[in-house]
Amino acid sequence: MMQFVQTQKGIIQKIIVTLTCIILLSTGLVLPATAADLQGSALEVVSINGIVLGQTVRGESAQMPTEAAIYQQAQPQPDKAWESFPDQHSVALDKEWNIAFSSDIHQEEVKYISLTKNNQLTPGSWILKGQMLTSTGFERYEADSIYKLTILLRNGNGYYLYFDTFNENAAQGQLQFRMQTPHFLFYTTEQDVEILPELATALETNFARVQTDLHTQMNGQQRIEIYPNQESYLQASSMYGWSAACATGGTVQANSLKTLQCSFDTYVNTLTHEITHNVEASLNAASTLPHWLNEGVACFEGKTNNNYATIARYVRQAPVPTFDELESNYYRWPELGGYELSYSIVEYYVQTYGYEKLHALISDYDCFAEITGITLEQFQATWLQAIQAKYVQ
Ligand SMILES: [Zn+2]
Repeated sequence: MMQFVQTQKGIIQKIIVTLTCIILLSTGLVLPATAADLQGSALEVVSINGIVLGQTVRGESAQMPTEAAIYQQAQPQPDKAWESFPDQHSVALDKEWNIAFSSDIHQEEVKYISLTKNNQLTPGSWILKGQMLTSTGFERYEADSIYKLTILLRNGNGYYLYFDTFNENAAQGQLQFRMQTPHFLFYTTEQDVEILPELATALETNFARVQTDLHTQMNGQQRIEIYPNQESYLQASSMYGWSAACATGGTVQANSLKTLQCSFDTYVNTLTHEITHNVEASLNAASTLPHWLNEGVACFEGKTNNNYATIARYVRQAPVPTFDELESNYYRWPELGGYELSYSIVEYYVQTYGYEKLHALISDYDCFAEITGITLEQFQATWLQAIQAKYVQ
């Protein structure tokens, strides 16, 4: 055990730290300064769990999480500022952190690493392997709490990441029926009630447009279920971890706007994307659509995954996946650009054949050649030419 006593604003606080708690360093929290501090190593942290550095450093958190004496040596070099990763929300209580470095990392290159909650160090340890530093042996985090992960390298580069943990109480709160509109029934916990009137109005407007575009009138009301956080959403939907919302059997399930932290308009588009899936399913009860068509229509009508620069990036990544490759790799769509490419396929289809033939294709995909006058292979080739012309300069 190591024990530190600090005085802060007249209050004596005692921080008790087990030896395994901080890091790979057996000698303590901060290694004594060495000549290595002054050497110009280019080592950098490039990502944490795949999350890349944010653009901003907020003023207050450019400081260490505490003024405790134990941290006083742990500051970046005077000419360097702390760099922050984007805040992470509703993190699982047993989350592991994988910190990726720009090159192989050695123990002596890390001056300091800690995980703190309310300035208190959290017991745990880290394992070094190649370019990766992985957390291990942490106790379960406390629910609904804010933690800070701090890394300081001997070359003076300093990084931090704030994350808050999953709110168990909110997750346990049952979804309840909250309101209805002509085409939707809304189920949420208390935390998401506030946005419903504005959300419902926006979804009704978009739903009318989707129905017009797809030449259909869908019967009944869709059920919109909004879960309070990522854990409860994934548990209810059984979706992949990267999923924010999904649609099945006339129901839309979605993560809360409070968790996703996107803009309201982006959230509306995400739900419109899912509502469009239900409209597609009403046109094609047998659900025989390939992913590029099913998702492409939802992206096109929901106005999601349609950022020009992002689409262009995937188009430039040769070779562009074929329709067959997109079909068989749905589980890793985000990295393949599956959504963006599918958007571009449907965009091209609508520009070439119009909405009436989009309706025909969704209703009877097996008749692709009769509807379009060309084979799927020919369509794929013309689409590829079209996106090269549109997205590659
Ligand atoms: Zn979708």
